Amino acid sequence: MRHLDVTFARILNRAFLVNAAKKHSSKLASWGFTNAEPFLIAGPCSAESEEQILQTAQQIKAGGKASVFRAGAWKPRTRPGSFEGIGSVALEWMSRAKAETGLPMATEVANAWHVEEVLKHGIDMIWIGARTTVNPFYVQEIANALQGVDIPVLVKNPLHPELGLWVGAIERFDAVGIKRLAAIHRGFYTTKPSPFRNEPHWDLSFELRARLPELPILCDPSHIAGKRALLQQVAQTAMDINLDGLMIETHITPDKALSDAEQQVTPSALVTLMDNLVVKQEDAEEETVLKKLQDLRLVIDDIDHELIKSLSKRFKHVEEIGNIKLEDHITIFQIKRWFEMMNDRKAFGAKYDLDVEFLHELFSIIHKYSVKKQTEIVRKDAF
Ligand code: PEP
Ligand code: MN
Repeated sequence: MRHLDVTFARILNRAFLVNAAKKHSSKLASWGFTNAEPFLIAGPCSAESEEQILQTAQQIKAGGKASVFRAGAWKPRTRPGSFEGIGSVALEWMSRAKAETGLPMATEVANAWHVEEVLKHGIDMIWIGARTTVNPFYVQEIANALQGVDIPVLVKNPLHPELGLWVGAIERFDAVGIKRLAAIHRGFYTTKPSPFRNEPHWDLSFELRARLPELPILCDPSHIAGKRALLQQVAQTAMDINLDGLMIETHITPDKALSDAEQQVTPSALVTLMDNLVVKQEDAEEETVLKKLQDLRLVIDDIDHELIKSLSKRFKHVEEIGNIKLEDHITIFQIKRWFEMMNDRKAFGAKYDLDVEFLHELFSIIHKYSVKKQTEIVRKDAF
């Protein structure tokens, strides 16, 4: 009986997952590509040879998971001397791969001439790389070249965590009439030690979603992870936060890849990865679950209001300290106090199972605004 219950629960669960699948891809449903779930773009980092492109495309097609094939024809590399791509001839290989497999083709463009080449070769989708999104001149040049062209454009986030540049690039394509427009979250350069090649900063995709709620956001787990071992986990997180699809670098012989070898997977590993993904629904459908969530959210609302009240009290005391510092000509920022406070808050918070990194960030912000408040007090006196 228990076994039956479990099986039934699994079937039910699967039904939910299928439901969720339909919701998940809805933003891309009108784009005219096969409606796989999740929406997947797969293919090698770089186009290296005709054989590599044709074989990878055939195997990806056989796997049945991808809606679009990707390959970089021009590779914007941070350092000269790395493999910089094969150029326009790769687009001919991709046309052939499209004819043989029926898979639509996507590649990166970084200037107006690339756009011309891509359109000449019947490429179906383009993306703007992270090193291009950082520069509004490049982005505008590409946007101008696309005026009046109906092609899907995917805009990767800029290298560094700045939402403004990302949104700005998206706006430039919107302004020239690009209708099928999406963002790709590929992580951000960081100087901090991190298991990832590019720090995910998922908060920025939340902010992007808040700013442009209708915009589909895909995730590129390959460039976030930087290594195969982390791909599954990053792709799952992308699904858990309800992003709209994935771009995953896939190569017939990843270890021999001329760029990004460590993060590419074989077409069969890609199938396994996709099969292991759990696509969840955005909201509960069952009354009891909805009720439970609602109750918990009410409790959290109360706690947050208490937090705000405590912060307000804290800032009143900060003001008092500011006045004393002003009268006694004491500097506002005192490094010794900063270290003491940080160490105390982290040790205290750790006892309550709070993440030390979180505490560090939280109190850095609180302290930053306390200093700002005191600076305002001192400035007011100066004028
Ligand atoms: C790529 O997709 O291969 C690439 C160069 O990506 P990014 O611009 O995200 O570094
Ligand atoms: Mn790459």
